[in-house]
Order: sequence, then C-alpha cells, then structure tokens
Amino acid sequence: MPPFNLHIPSTLDEALSKASELSSAGKEYDWISGGTDLIPNYKWHINTKKDVISLSGIDELYVMTPLRIGAMVSLQEIVESNSVHPLISQAASKIASVMIRRSATLGGNICLDTRCFWFNQTEEWRESIDWCHKCDCGTGADCRVIPNQNDLCVATYQADLAPVLMCLGATIHLSSLDESRSMPISEFFRLDGMTRNVLKKGEIVTHITFPEDLFEWEGDYQKLRQRESWDFPEAGVAVTWKREGGVIEDLRVATTGLESVPVLHTEQAMEALEGWDGKDSVTKLSESVRRSVKPVLNTWYPPSYRKKMVKVLTRRACSALLEG
Ligand SMILES: Cc1cc2nc3c(=O)[nH]c(=O)nc-3n(C[C@H](O)[C@H](O)[C@H](O)COP(=O)(O)OP(=O)(O)OC[C@H]3O[C@@H](n4cnc5c(N)ncnc54)[C@H](O)[C@@H]3O)c2cc1C
Ligand code: SF4
Repeated sequence: MPPFNLHIPSTLDEALSKASELSSAGKEYDWISGGTDLIPNYKWHINTKKDVISLSGIDELYVMTPLRIGAMVSLQEIVESNSVHPLISQAASKIASVMIRRSATLGGNICLDTRCFWFNQTEEWRESIDWCHKCDCGTGADCRVIPNQNDLCVATYQADLAPVLMCLGATIHLSSLDESRSMPISEFFRLDGMTRNVLKKGEIVTHITFPEDLFEWEGDYQKLRQRESWDFPEAGVAVTWKREGGVIEDLRVATTGLESVPVLHTEQAMEALEGWDGKDSVTKLSESVRRSVKPVLNTWYPPSYRKKMVKVLTRRACSALLEG
C-alpha cells in the first residue's frame, strides 16, 4: 500500500479544519471511518491520496438512539442493538462478515464507493487493459462499460443500508466548516459512479435521523449475492409498509446494487397502493419495479438475471405484508 499521512482529529471542528488546511495547501485527502472499503482500494492503488483524515476520534459521531444513528456507529453495533428499528439491524446483518462489520460504519456504508469489475482490480491488472475512466492515471482512458466516451462512469452502488434507510424516511445530516445541512437520504445520491453523492469538498456525513412514526413501519430487505458468507448485493430490494386497522396505509420500495445510485421507487409504490388488491398488487408492483431498474454489465451476475431477480426479491420482501 502506498504510504500516506494519517490525521486523527478528536473533534468535528478539528477534522473539518484539517480538511480545509489540506485543501488550502493544494493537497488531496480522503476521509476514513472503518477503512473496510478505502483500505482495500488503497492496497490496489486505486485513486490513493497522500493524506487521510480519520473520523474515529470524534465522540459525537458514535451516538445511537432509536431515532438517531451516528456516522461512526459500527454495523455490528447496529446488528446487536435493541433500540434501532429491526429492519435496519436485519439489513446490517447481511453486510459482509462479522469481523468486517465490527470495523465497518454506517457513514462508510452510505458513502461506499461504487464498484465495477473493470475497476476493483489490482494496479497491474488495470494497467494491462490500459486503465478506465474512473482511475485513468492521467491517460484520459474511456469507460469500458459504456465505451467510446470518458464523461460518464456507471459503476454500481452496492451498499445494503441505503434502500432500507430510504424506505424508513431517514434524513441525512452533513457538516462542513461553512455549514451544516440535512436532506431526505433519497436526495443524497448522484447518478454518477465517480461523484456518487452531494458531499462537497470538506464535508462529512455526521448522522442520520428518523421521523417520529419510525416504529409504526414494518418491512423486509431481500438481497441477491453470490456467496451468503460476505458478498456485496448483486441486487437488493427493501419494502416497508404502514398499516392502520389492518389496512395498508402507506408503502415504500427501494433498490440497491443495480445502478450507480440506490433508488426509491415512489411512483411504483403509489400505483400499487391505489386500489390495493393483495397478491395481485404485489405481482404488479414486482413487475413494475423490475421494469424500472437498469443494471449494466459490471458486477458478477449478468444484468438480465439481476433484473429478473428484482421481481423475485420484491415479491419475497412483500411476503409478510400479505400475511398480516
Ligand atoms: C469482503 C468484503 C465484503 C463486503 N460486503 C459488503 C456487503 O455485503 N454489503 C455492503 O454494503 N458492503 C460490503 N462491504 C463494504 C464495506 O465493508 C461496508 O460497506 C462498510 O460499511 C464501509 O464502511 P467503512 O466505515 O469501513 O468505510 P470506509 O472504508 O472508511 O469508507 C468508505 C468510503 O466512505 C467515505 N466515508 C466514510 N465515512 C464517511 C463520512 N462519515 N462522511 C463522508 N464520507 C465518508 C470514505 O472516504 C470512503 O470513500 C464489504 C467489504 C469487504 C472487504
Ligand atoms: S463503469 Fe466504466 S469508468 Fe466506471 S469503473 Fe467501470 S469501466 Fe471504469
């Protein structure tokens, strides 16, 4: 792994000031939380920086209550917590392995770099194919998935928590030296495999919060992966619903592992909810979600299979909805 300077600030202000200081000196840096994504990328010499700022020393990022989870809370703490919504714990339990989850964090999971089989490879391998646009080593190389262009990267967002957080109405909170801002988590992501999200230079995710009605929502998360032991989602579908007197009052569906962003399928959920007809509505919903996703060929399974499986996963995620 190329050497880098590791900065470990102990307050949020210190971290944001360090970022500003490095930027003013013309130095590029990365934030690091658990490092379970960043360090493997650094070991493969993928877009490494000379400076890395750790968020691990900032106490306020570790706060976890039923309606708030700090960016530095580990995924295993979320799995074992009795206070967070059970669907968040369930989705977290499907991420990687226990050992990885003990270091991996909520913030790192939300901000996970997009993935592509032309990109997540060793430096020698990538050099042997003359690189690609996302890590072109100054060559101006084209994208290998959408060829003959080097403007767009369609690497796939393969983190598990985002669709569940979207379906539970989470708000994401960001901080920089200039301002603190928040937005629905569904507005955080950007359809670009390189930019990935709305974070500006020097800005971090500090925590997420949930609305007061969080525990009135039920739901399920279904994931397709090659090996159950620890693989990234090849497709992931979260479905949540709220009942009032046995009647479905609200419904949300979101997907991950299929495009450069996780997607909240508001229109499809609303159409299914209007004139709700139990099993038939679930069949229509599964088909309309399948139709709306657009996977490309850059992960393990072919796009056509992942698309087909979206229908199956949606139906499975609705099982408890039909039982209630
Ligand atoms: C073998 C293996 C299997 C895996 N399987 C899965 C899986 O099944 N599902 C899944 O979702 N993930 C999986 N992962 C990826 C990863 O472990 C998790 O997504 C983890 O949650 C990342 O969190 P982290 O704290 O380690 O992130 P880091 O590696 O520290 O950071 C990841 C990225 O987010 C940025 N970042 C981190 N925190 C912040 C913040 N607070 N604000 C702004 N930017 C930030 C970093 O700069 C970096 O770009 C796997 C990883 C490995 C090695
Ligand atoms: S989608 Fe294209 S530019 Fe992005 S990582 Fe893959 S090959 Fe590279």
